[in-house]
Amino acid sequence: MCIECSGIHRNLGTHLSRVRSLDLDDWPVELMQVMSSIGNELANSIWQESSQGQTKPSVDSTREEKEWWIRAKYEQKLFLAPLPCRELSLGQHLLQATADEDLWTAILLLAHGSWKEVNKTCGERDSCTALHLACCKGNVVLVHLLIWYGVDIMAGDAHGNTVLAYAWQPSSQECINVLLQYGCPNECSPWCKNKMGKINKNN
Ligand SMILES: [Zn+2]
Repeated sequence: MCIECSGIHRNLGTHLSRVRSLDLDDWPVELMQVMSSIGNELANSIWQESSQGQTKPSVDSTREEKEWWIRAKYEQKLFLAPLPCRELSLGQHLLQATADEDLWTAILLLAHGSWKEVNKTCGERDSCTALHLACCKGNVVLVHLLIWYGVDIMAGDAHGNTVLAYAWQPSSQECINVLLQYGCPNECSPWCKNKMGKINKNN
């Protein structure tokens, strides 16, 4: 995108938008995976499902026109695809979409969800959050997205297991890297200690 649009995006704040320069910023491999898995087509099928009769600004549009469009799209969520009609609450649906690794549905739900909704825990599965489930799957794309949308990185499940302990199950180095990078404490849970103890013994 152009300098003008990237400036407008930066002004929205990181809770709504993140801007990275292809030339000036570094691109960790985990972030590359997120960007290449989502891409413009998938993102726009959610954030710009219907333009509501408005015309998307072009390069030649004024700064005001561009700013109106960007704010309408991300701040007012004017063009956002609607939530599917489901019996499930948004939080329960997000847990299911994460367990199914259904990226499109997860992004749609995150775009609509409040902080409280996206932090919903799974009753039957040890009170884990969607972030625990994504870590368990070793799905670094979902892990990144859930953190960006405010799922608590410090939350433990009913047994006190951290999200990091869950990322150890599939031994997902990428997920572990992302969790540490976002400040997840690098301490072992009782479960993890047990496993590590066994590994050390075997060695
Ligand atoms: Zn632009």
